[in-house]
Amino acid sequence: MARRKMIYEGKAKIIYEGTEPGTIVQYFKDDATAFNAQKKDVIEGKGVLNNRLSEYFMTGLNQIGVPTHFIKRLNMREQLCRQVEIVPLEVIVRNYAAGTMSKRLGIDEGTQLPRPIVEYCLKDDSLGDPLVTEEHIAAFGWASQQDMEDILSLALRVNDFMSGVMMAVGIRLVDFKIEIGRVYDGDFQRLIVADEISPDSCRLWDIETGQKLDKDVFRRDLGSLTDAYTEVAKRLGVMPKTSTPITKPTLIN
Ligand code: 5GP
Repeated sequence: MARRKMIYEGKAKIIYEGTEPGTIVQYFKDDATAFNAQKKDVIEGKGVLNNRLSEYFMTGLNQIGVPTHFIKRLNMREQLCRQVEIVPLEVIVRNYAAGTMSKRLGIDEGTQLPRPIVEYCLKDDSLGDPLVTEEHIAAFGWASQQDMEDILSLALRVNDFMSGVMMAVGIRLVDFKIEIGRVYDGDFQRLIVADEISPDSCRLWDIETGQKLDKDVFRRDLGSLTDAYTEVAKRLGVMPKTSTPITKPTLIN
């Protein structure tokens, strides 16, 4: 069997050429990185959980008419997606202050924001994904004015969907990051949600206890990342309750 072609290897995923023209395969790795890859580890089972969770969110978005690149899950770690041209921006939506917004503006983590706030960062690891304004985006041609209107609308629709899905299982969606892809249908181009939506790219807090169920568990050394992601998956009914554990059982003497 011919070996398929790798297109790109990122920090958490590998992208391969897909089976049909215009498709790619996303392979979810177990690698975890934080602080622009200054902190690294391999967390057994993380890729399997993120593959499932991203499938769950993207399928839901497709079903309510928010277009995404997701086509179907292929196996435990891989999903087939539409090939897109990635817009070089990280689109962040915040409902509560946390992370860099708290640091930058001196607002306590957990403070509810007056309304969802959308921020844009330039996707450039060598610069640490700096925050940029719509002025920069327009002046440097990273996206057009029409693109920005579409991106804002997609981001807010994803926020409404994700907030509702999470609230139903007792989880607060504090903030999240999405990436946007450009696809061409004949002479027309449109923007769709791409990359992944998972606890790697969201802040998720238990509504009752405030327990963190996202990548901050890794960033801030707060315990087991797989336990946190498994809890999210279980509450959403994404992992069958009787499934075999994805991490090896710990041997107790
Ligand atoms: P912050 O700007 O506070 O670090 O992040 C805001 C939100 O966007 C958090 O949910 C965080 O996980 C997500 N985010 C920001 N940058 C990245 C990134 O480069 N990769 C991933 N996976 N998520 C990010």
